[in-house]
Amino acid sequence: FNLAIPANEPVLAYAPGSPERKALKQALQEAKAKQRELPAFINGERVLDGEKVSVHPPHERSFTLGHFYRGTQDHVHRAIDAALAAKPAWESLPWQQRAAVFLRAADLLAGPFRARMNAATMLGQSKNAYQAEIDSVAEMCDFFRFNAYFLQEIYREQPLHSPDGIWNRLEYRALEGFVLAITPFNFTSIAANLPAAPALCGNTVVWKPAETQIYSAVVIMELFEAAGLPKGVINLIYTDGPEVGDIVFKHRDFAGLHFTGSTKVFQQLWKEIGNNVGHYRSYPRIVGETGGKDFLVAHPSADAVEVAVALLRGAFEYQGQKCSAASRAYVPASLWAAVRERLVADMKTLRSGTVEDFGNFINAVIDERAFDRIAGYIDGAKADDAVEIVAGGGYDKSEGFFIEPTVLLTTDPRSKTMVEEIFGPVLTIYVYEDAQWEETLELVDTTSPYALTGAVFATDRAVIEQASRALRNAAGNFYVNDKPTGAVVGQQPFGGARASGTNDKAGSAINLQRWISPRLIKENF
Ligand code: GLU
Repeated sequence: FNLAIPANEPVLAYAPGSPERKALKQALQEAKAKQRELPAFINGERVLDGEKVSVHPPHERSFTLGHFYRGTQDHVHRAIDAALAAKPAWESLPWQQRAAVFLRAADLLAGPFRARMNAATMLGQSKNAYQAEIDSVAEMCDFFRFNAYFLQEIYREQPLHSPDGIWNRLEYRALEGFVLAITPFNFTSIAANLPAAPALCGNTVVWKPAETQIYSAVVIMELFEAAGLPKGVINLIYTDGPEVGDIVFKHRDFAGLHFTGSTKVFQQLWKEIGNNVGHYRSYPRIVGETGGKDFLVAHPSADAVEVAVALLRGAFEYQGQKCSAASRAYVPASLWAAVRERLVADMKTLRSGTVEDFGNFINAVIDERAFDRIAGYIDGAKADDAVEIVAGGGYDKSEGFFIEPTVLLTTDPRSKTMVEEIFGPVLTIYVYEDAQWEETLELVDTTSPYALTGAVFATDRAVIEQASRALRNAAGNFYVNDKPTGAVVGQQPFGGARASGTNDKAGSAINLQRWISPRLIKENF
């Protein structure tokens, strides 16, 4: 058992007439033909009790995909008990056995589960085929395979000196207790990775997904089961967040939180954990990826067309529902006319519709709450004299939660939409005087509390170096002449600091180290 560095799972093209498109169409039809009862998974058992809640595609509100059952406090207790009961056997397995489960899951996902997982993500989270393929197949496979490889490298490492007569060694244990994974709607792969990464390291997990991702979460559990994950290692529950927190954060065996979601919620959870810190066996590991207000800053030496294309893709793919989405841009006056012309022309070609059209670009945002919040930002911009609507500005929730990709131009670099995370298809641009480049870098660094991703466009090497230095702490993922989105596992480990999270880089050895508690053993002989 010696894993080579994995290759990234190829992203299939879904061209008309291709076998993958045929299989996906069939999976979409099958999914829509029958409403699904979506069970919680506790100790390997499917649990269907609690308040019944229906699930609809965000782009087709009147259609019902199925139902889940919002869980009770009893589910939380049972899930914790199941995780603790499964722990001794799971953590004692040779790590290769645990890795084998997730490697098998990756192969099943690349094969027989591919169409189903994509269909679930497309219908449940309103992604087109290409977006679903990147997220729920390619990236999820990559997480499982790269994590297995990185774990091997961690375990291989014995960096200790042992003088004559002494044997020093590190034993890589799991954390003592259970881990709570709280996962977002916007990436199916992140939802899978947050429980899977600690589990790979020998931990057992209680997994609480976003309610808007449950439809694909169930397919992830079926995948784990098919791959041979023992019961109780990952337990999926749908109890309300605050109730989960009430029980988990008072539990003596709570050992870690793996979180992706909003900054506000993460800060609340951190406080609760802090308040209870005396109750736990150990200091819990707290790993979180939270918000972003990601920038793109163009220098006068940049190529205007490249900037326009990066803005369109970075801001509007996935409806801008990415922590990494480009949402504030700084364009020099000398480039603005050309950037604007290209951006507006390209935006006219974007197609809207349901995800089953294939080839549509604009899909619905996740739910009514998100729709109203984003529409509120657009209304605020319309009422603001400092802001011009360059493109878009429309929205309509009659059939689905559709928001037009919207470009705002502001004369105030600290206006609301330049500072706050919107998490939707809204991009705000500030045009600066070419001579104000250095002041602009300062603005980029200080305007928002976040520091997740950012991009600089320039051809002048000295300028690239200058920007990189000035923005050293402004982004955990810094892109030069590329959009600030689309990190690939194994290539660009993802995460940021400041209000964007603990920067433990998803899908990397750094992240796995957080789920391991090493024991040093010194032996004389
Ligand atoms: N990893 C994704 C990217 O680089 C974003 C993940 C997220 O939105 O949390 O675009």
